[in-house]
Amino acid sequence: MNARTPIQLAPSDSLTEAERARILAKSAIFAPPPMTDEAGRRELVGLTKDELTAEMVAIGEKAFRAKQVWGWIYNQGVTDFARMANIAKPLQAKLADRFKITRPTVATEQTSTDATRKWLFRLADGQQIETVYIPEDDRGALCISTQVGCTLSCRFCHTGTQKLVRNLSAGEIVGQFMAARDSYGEWPTPNDETRRLSNIVVMGMGEPLYNYEAVATALKIAMDHEGIGLSRRRITLSTSGVVPMMDRAGAELGVNLAVSLHAVTDELRDEIVPLNRKYPIAELMAACRRYPSASNARRITFEYVMLDGVNDSEAEARELVRLLHGLPAKVNLIPFNPWPGSPYKTSKREAIQRFARIVNDAGFAAPVRRPRGRDILAACGQLKTESERLARAKTAAL
Ligand code: SAH
Ligand code: SF4
Repeated sequence: MNARTPIQLAPSDSLTEAERARILAKSAIFAPPPMTDEAGRRELVGLTKDELTAEMVAIGEKAFRAKQVWGWIYNQGVTDFARMANIAKPLQAKLADRFKITRPTVATEQTSTDATRKWLFRLADGQQIETVYIPEDDRGALCISTQVGCTLSCRFCHTGTQKLVRNLSAGEIVGQFMAARDSYGEWPTPNDETRRLSNIVVMGMGEPLYNYEAVATALKIAMDHEGIGLSRRRITLSTSGVVPMMDRAGAELGVNLAVSLHAVTDELRDEIVPLNRKYPIAELMAACRRYPSASNARRITFEYVMLDGVNDSEAEARELVRLLHGLPAKVNLIPFNPWPGSPYKTSKREAIQRFARIVNDAGFAAPVRRPRGRDILAACGQLKTESERLARAKTAAL
């Protein structure tokens, strides 16, 4: 599939005709650049296995070559066809002539005093995105971006102050994971027990369910056993609540779900997560109850950013408990991470503790997220690149 192909919406997506038309139009405007460069070489990272097979067949090769190439790309981390040892030299040269295997390039790499690492990646068209690795003792999660900017303008989020520039392609999404593995020297794909990059959280810049096709393809590549091989239990997708696409993600991907709730009344959520005006809390909670993991006791994570005097009262904690009643749920309490010019303050420690206790006492785990990488602006909601100027130029040109 060419990266410029607008997304496909299945008839099962519960969208009105107007919504369907709007999403398709947007996806075309904000599509990533083509996968074939000026020299006519096609990018292989981001193709599904079937698409890779079709490419091999199209150049007169047998389908099994796709399996070999796939293993080199996603299991061994190879970017140079000359290193594909089970492929004869003439075919290596033929492949190199027609295809390429690239990563986003590292513009900057910063490591925090707490070992969190943040990359600013440059993409083929010059756009930039941020990716963060959050290490735990013997493993860690890579927080990946899905869009340059975001359409959704949540009041507390730095990314939300940057207009959407474009969607990322599947290759750019899975490429962030591959580039991080380069950085930690973690090729070939290690066994589960020894992986440092053991988990993916789709919680970086952008709303993943507004770029569903590319996100789904990238995650399926990451989960493939002959390649990166991450289990779906090690992947968490975070959404601000794009209700119609939550059903589809549950059915097709089955990864863990995180929902950015942040408020327990529509009045407040309308203000701080404006998408709520479209998909209010009752609809969002109903979609959570339908999500497949909710029926087999895999917990849904509810993210709740703690804003001083805005959403952190005891009454709100009790209302949260009422909303979650009967759901296998966990609540991540995220002390607000400030950014230059942000309109809120972080809740007081005592307020966070009181809130956590009420939620805990009702039987829901409610860990308080330790902010990671604040010194390098790598914590939740602090990501934002310098591409706003380009965004404005593009919007003006439309
Ligand atoms: N767009 C998706 C995923 C990216 S945001 C979503 O909204 O879920 C990842 C998480 O960081 C979300 O829960 C988001 O609400 C939270 N977040 C955003 N800005 C923040 C900030 N300044 N401090 C703490 N958490 C923030
Ligand atoms: Fe977009 Fe998520 Fe930030 Fe909201 S919190 S503006 S949905 S990235």
